[in-house]
Amino acid sequence: MTSRNPHAARRAELLRHMAGIGVDGLLVSNRRNIFYLSAFRGEDSLLLVRRGRSQLITDGRFSEQAEQETRGIEIVVRKKGLMATAAATARRGKVATLGIEAEALTVAQAEDLRAALGRTTLKPVRGLVQRQRMVKDAAELAVIRRAVAITQRAFLDTLPHIRPGMTEMEVAHILDRTMIELGAEGPAFETIVAAGERGSLPHARPTERRIRSGEAILFDWGARLEGYCADLTRLAFVDRIPPIYRRIYPLVLTAQRRAVAQVRAGRKTGEVDAVARGYLKAHRHGKDFRHSLGHGLGLDVHEAPSLARGVETTLRAGMVVTVEPGIYLPGRAGVRIEDLLLVTRKGHASLTSLPRSIEAFLIRS
Ligand code: ZN
Ligand code: ZN
Repeated sequence: MTSRNPHAARRAELLRHMAGIGVDGLLVSNRRNIFYLSAFRGEDSLLLVRRGRSQLITDGRFSEQAEQETRGIEIVVRKKGLMATAAATARRGKVATLGIEAEALTVAQAEDLRAALGRTTLKPVRGLVQRQRMVKDAAELAVIRRAVAITQRAFLDTLPHIRPGMTEMEVAHILDRTMIELGAEGPAFETIVAAGERGSLPHARPTERRIRSGEAILFDWGARLEGYCADLTRLAFVDRIPPIYRRIYPLVLTAQRRAVAQVRAGRKTGEVDAVARGYLKAHRHGKDFRHSLGHGLGLDVHEAPSLARGVETTLRAGMVVTVEPGIYLPGRAGVRIEDLLLVTRKGHASLTSLPRSIEAFLIRS
């Protein structure tokens, strides 16, 4: 198992987790999990991870791509149904207990599989590969850092193009296009550009609403690169900063700083959430912080661990998480500040470096 092939190392680690729950084969059907374990990016395929050689079950459309993208995996090009071929492959590999991903396989697929398996036992498992994905290896961190660099550069390059009268949608298009020009595969999720009072919608989609002088613009955006995501939130202001933001922005910023200071290996994610939530509550904005503090990020924009109320996941070195408190005043204003952190043994490293001060992105029209 050489470090030159991170996918083989990930499969080896997965085999150890599988042994711990008594499965000697795992049929991976979640596309991101398949990519994580094999580097294969095609569709309609399954990865059977087992001791000895793992197998990728695919069809003629993807066989050449599978040979190019994967290493150390046998490519099985199916001639009959996907589940029937998977069952036959597991039987041929003498798998006694076959794990299936309960969140990813449909009931129909599980039934087809069971019908074709014969004496092999089927065991649904939950979040096995996702738990492994929480801790990023060096190859993943390198890609995430590059995705962040593109994300930040694209934002800085977009700001000078913004003029009052442009729509949220126009600005979002410039930002998306700039990320692609800088090398991104595309936006990691639908870019949020929310002008003025629309900032109070945590998941605002860009509209034809025109940006005016004297208002805030909330950006929540991120590039996708080689499958990996970045995710950042900043506010820009056109010409001047409205008084309401002078009041609430510093509260969100302090809530974020306090929470960030808690991020280190050994901390429970719910405890980090509680620090930001407690601070905003003490300043009578507890109810205006209407989502969890943050989330893990990698191949999915939102993945484990969740930094949320009551969640007991322990932070470990190598996890990548967002910290993104907010205050939302419906119909008036919204502030969210989001940064990406790498959890380290003694604390954390900030993966994002855009300034956070309220004056940082003041656009002069
Ligand atoms: Zn975000
Ligand atoms: Zn986020």
